[in-house]
Order: sequence, then C-alpha cells, then structure tokens
Amino acid sequence: MHLARFPRLHLAHLPTPLEKLDRLTRELGGPEIWIKRDDCTGLSTGGNKTRKLEFLMAEAQQQGADIVITQGATQSNHARQTAAFAAKLGMGCHLLLEDRTGYEDRNYRFSGNVLLDLLHGATTERRESGLDMNAEMEAVADGMRASGKNVYTIPGGGSNPTGALGYVNCALELIAQANAQSLRIDHIVHATGSAGTQAGLVVGLKAMNANIPLLGIGVRAPKEAQENNVYALAQTTAEKLGCAGVVRRDDVVANTDYVGEGYGLPAPSTIEAIKMFSQLESILLDPVYSGKGAAGLIDLIRKGRFSKNDRIVFLHTGGSAALFGYTQAFDDLIG
Ligand SMILES: *Cc1c(COP(=O)(O)O)cnc(C)c1O
Repeated sequence: MHLARFPRLHLAHLPTPLEKLDRLTRELGGPEIWIKRDDCTGLSTGGNKTRKLEFLMAEAQQQGADIVITQGATQSNHARQTAAFAAKLGMGCHLLLEDRTGYEDRNYRFSGNVLLDLLHGATTERRESGLDMNAEMEAVADGMRASGKNVYTIPGGGSNPTGALGYVNCALELIAQANAQSLRIDHIVHATGSAGTQAGLVVGLKAMNANIPLLGIGVRAPKEAQENNVYALAQTTAEKLGCAGVVRRDDVVANTDYVGEGYGLPAPSTIEAIKMFSQLESILLDPVYSGKGAAGLIDLIRKGRFSKNDRIVFLHTGGSAALFGYTQAFDDLIG
C-alpha cells in the first residue's frame, strides 16, 4: 500500500503527540498508559475526523465541488470539522443534524459543536431521530444538484474507504513514532462509532504486520453489529489500497459494555472518566465518544484485563467542544 497515490490536503497538525500519562497510570496501579493526541489535529479544536477529511475533501476538490453536505447527531464533531475544513477551502457546507437524544436545553441545541458549525458559516437543518440519515442527505443533495450545484456528499462520520485512509495513515504514524522511541506498544484502545477510525487503523496495523491488538470501545451499536460494520469497511479499504484480505474477521474486536443508555447519553462511568482525565492529566474528553472509550479503558484495567507490564496507547479521538453542549451532565460541579 502507498497512501501518496491518493489525493490529500495536508491541513491537519501531524504527527500528533504521543504522551505518557503518569498520574493516571499511578492512580490505576499500571499498566503504563500512553495517549495519542488526535484531539490535537488542529482544525477548530481538533479531533479524529480531520484525518479522514484530508482525503475526503481532496476528493471533493478534485471533483470540482462547490459545496459539501454531511450529517450527524446534533453535537456531531464530524459535522463541525467538516464545516471548518470547508471554510478553509472556501467551499460551502450544509449539515443535517439528527436529534438522537431528545435533549431540549439551549446549550445542547445551540452551543458546543453547533455554535462552531454556525461560526464556520455552515448552514444546518434538523431531523428527528430514527431516519436513514444518509438517504435524507442524498435527497437534499439531489435538490441542490437540480439547481445547478456541484455537491460532494460525505457519509456520517466520514466513514467510507476514502475517509478510512486517514486512519491507515494514523497507524503508520503511530508505529513510526513508537519505533523512533523504542517504545513497545502492547495494546491500542479507542472509541469506535461510525467505524472509519477502527477500520483504517486495523488495515494499517495488519498491512505492517505490527501484531498489536486493537480494541474499539463502542458508543452506539451492539458488539456483533459494530464489529461487522468495522470489518466490512476494513475490507473495502484494504481493497482500495491494493492489499485485499489483510484483515481477518477476528482482528476486529469491539467492546460495547460502556454505551450506557444509548448514543449521546453519558453514563456515570463516562462522567467519571472525563473527571479523572481532566483532574489527573489536564486532558479534556467528551461525553459521547472519548469519555466512553476512556471509561472502557479504566474499567478493563481495574478488572485486570491487561498485564501490569503492558504498555497501552489510548487514541484520543477528540470531541471536547461537545462538553459545552452537555453542561447539564455536570450539574454536580456547577451547583
Ligand atoms: C466520530 C468520533 C469517534 C468515532 O470514530 P468513528 O470513526 O466514527 O468510529 C470517536 N471519538 C470522537 C470524539 C468522534 O467525534
């Protein structure tokens, strides 16, 4: 595989830092915890979608698009990073935002990522939950095409084989960093949602034959469905890269025990993880993804799932802007 064969806009701040979390490691009594700071990709408070958008937006530009459309939940980090990327390129951006939580408060509906979407000049429209959002988006795109626009549509989370190339690239970057520091990595853990992050990582790791287990902590779908989604996207991504078949079904592992009551609804373990990272390490997680991913990491460490001598890399996928849409989850602090 050779990523330079694919169009790409180098807009992210890369490589992202790889840092040791001493106080969290001590608090949990080992294993050694490191963090890969993909919350620091640079664009409008950063996050994992920026790596995907480097490839997606290059394709949009190559196709002469004047506007991009994408979709996500109300507090979608993906929507915000797409709006920011489009602004930077002087392209239009239209967002379909799905109400997956039923939260009515003003911060949830208009602050956090939504405020940033609007600041970046994106236009938005809302949808009730439960619709086929990619179909809704295609219908809106068709309407725009009929009025003469050149529209590029990006699926939810930027998760298609083009977007997943961003996380193949992240796997290459992480292994190169670890090699340069003689840092043996025993496990990688991260939050998994629309599947592009885990699919790209697993393709990159397998193509390098790195032999490092990867664990996705789910935020929405049940385990079997999540693993199947990741596996399907890993296969098509590997084909795109000319290394079809490098990923086997059992290379794809998700743990969905930390979803709580549903997508976008923080569980007590999510809030605990957010507080631990912010108070021990001054790192901001989010209530929808990275907080649940970290809750899984913390609980599995407490249950002895990893050996004390292991070195774990937690991939921080970003999302802190959503904190400002979720002030009601921190009423105990606010009083
Ligand atoms: C989108 C997102 C994820 C999940 O990544 P996928 O590629 O959709 O699986 C994790 N963390 C944050 C903060 C995200 O915005």
